[in-house]
Amino acid sequence: MTQSKNPRIAVIGGGISGLSAANYCREQCPNAEITIFEKRNRLGGVLHTEIVNGLEIEQSIDNFITTIPYGLDLCRRLGLESKLVTTTPRNRQTFILWKNRLHKLPDGFMMMAPTKWWPMAVTRLLTPMGKIRAAMEYFIPAKKDDSDESMESFAVRRLGREVFERLIEPLVSGVYAADMKRLSLLATLPRFREMEKKHGSLIRAMRSNCAEAKKKARAEKKSADRTSSAKTEGKTSETSQSGPRYNLFVTLKGGLRQIVNEIENRLDPALIHCGTQVVSLQTGENGKWRVCWKKVEESESNAQSAAVPQSIQSEEFDGVILATESHSMIPLLESASLSRAARHLAGIEHTGTVILTAAFRRDDIGHPLDGMGTVVPAIEKNPVLAISFSNEKYPHRAPEGIVLLRIFSGGSRNPEVVSMSEEEIKALLIKSITPCLKIQGEPILTAVSRWPNTMPQLHFGHLERIDELRKEMASCPTLAIAGNFLSGVGMPYCIQTGEEAARKILGNFGK
Ligand SMILES: Cc1cc2nc3c(=O)[nH]c(=O)nc-3n(C[C@H](O)[C@H](O)[C@H](O)COP(=O)(O)OP(=O)(O)OC[C@H]3O[C@@H](n4cnc5c(N)ncnc54)[C@H](O)[C@@H]3O)c2cc1C
Repeated sequence: MTQSKNPRIAVIGGGISGLSAANYCREQCPNAEITIFEKRNRLGGVLHTEIVNGLEIEQSIDNFITTIPYGLDLCRRLGLESKLVTTTPRNRQTFILWKNRLHKLPDGFMMMAPTKWWPMAVTRLLTPMGKIRAAMEYFIPAKKDDSDESMESFAVRRLGREVFERLIEPLVSGVYAADMKRLSLLATLPRFREMEKKHGSLIRAMRSNCAEAKKKARAEKKSADRTSSAKTEGKTSETSQSGPRYNLFVTLKGGLRQIVNEIENRLDPALIHCGTQVVSLQTGENGKWRVCWKKVEESESNAQSAAVPQSIQSEEFDGVILATESHSMIPLLESASLSRAARHLAGIEHTGTVILTAAFRRDDIGHPLDGMGTVVPAIEKNPVLAISFSNEKYPHRAPEGIVLLRIFSGGSRNPEVVSMSEEEIKALLIKSITPCLKIQGEPILTAVSRWPNTMPQLHFGHLERIDELRKEMASCPTLAIAGNFLSGVGMPYCIQTGEEAARKILGNFGK
């Protein structure tokens, strides 16, 4: 074990993965000197909020899932718990865009499987044959072996092509922006294979899970009722949401960027180097790492902007956490003589995504927007992947009378959109949503957020690749990796990998 009084730790990449690693090091080892190198001119990576004229614009992450505890837990440790808000209860339904009209997703349909018969029986999204095929899922035998398969193959095998094309494909694409023919079931949604294995059928599994969840909710409600009757009057509904009763998704009032700000405020500002690109990583004296970097000037906030070359500087560290996108890690691992690890990363493809945020006067939208948003099946041939009704989900995001929409595009379905000009993106996406939302006026505000090459594609073979990578990295106790390609793309998974990386590095210093 390396003994160092004030271990010097470098975190390369200042997105949420790197920041949660830095924050964990600070919490567990207050005397550590933590230096962050970030290529952009601000911390946060893709996580960024802007507040313009009272409109809260999330430029990428909209909210995060609470069933993976790392996001909630970090917010609590950063003192942000009172700002956590759940989706508004009145509008929790999702729509599917079908033949230019929004149809309600059948109630109880959970990503890959129905939990209720009646909504499936009456939906106009499916033909009678499609419904019969879906109902047959109950009797379709489970896959015998444990091998991986694509999301498309799994969904079509279990529920039929129609349910796949009209319900599952748009729901999954709205999250992963991926090619369903190549997306790995085991790397993306392994719980559905487990359900098939355990219960023989997804429908049976979902029904059994729902029954258990209802039982648990009843027990929780009883205990909550007992607690609230013991509490004083005047407690706000927001604070009463604390504890285990969060909905599936939460966000922060005031923007998710507050997570970045809170971490930044707790770190030594002299050791935060934004606009700094690490170019190589070399083994230094006494098992230390020599980090070599150059200053870069960004012409705009996106990472793929033109960089002006500068002279290379370097410094030694006791431990290094690599938390960049996986493709940016490859040259750094190669320079550290870890070519085998770099080769595993080279197999991970990325897509880019675009979000157009558009605010309209409510009177200019003919649709009631009585839901969280809509997803769009690939067979609709619309460049939009999904539309989130941002202030229907979280009303604090816009003043009364205004509608705030987040329109997603790009991904493996429409990769060309990411490289279009802002004007082209606005024109294309507004035109594409006008008929289904019955838009009659011009937007009063628009903002384009472009995220090229940021979404790792968890294709076939991803889990094996990550296993091999982890084995390679285990032989380097003072070098750790974190990021959205390791456990999952969602923010809580990124935080998990950041904290795990920090634990690995701190282990060298007896922490
Ligand atoms: C449009 C969009 C919407 C999303 N919505 C959600 C959502 O609603 N909920 C959710 O949970 N997740 C969501 N995600 C996923 C989640 O936002 C990301 O997976 C997560 O933020 C990635 O964080 P990260 O730190 O791993 O990577 P990044 O945020 O990409 O950070 C990596 C950082 O490393 C820096 N870097 C790269 N190379 C170098 C170098 N050589 N030297 C120095 N710095 C370098 C980059 O500039 C970048 O800032 C969304 C993602 C996108 C793109």
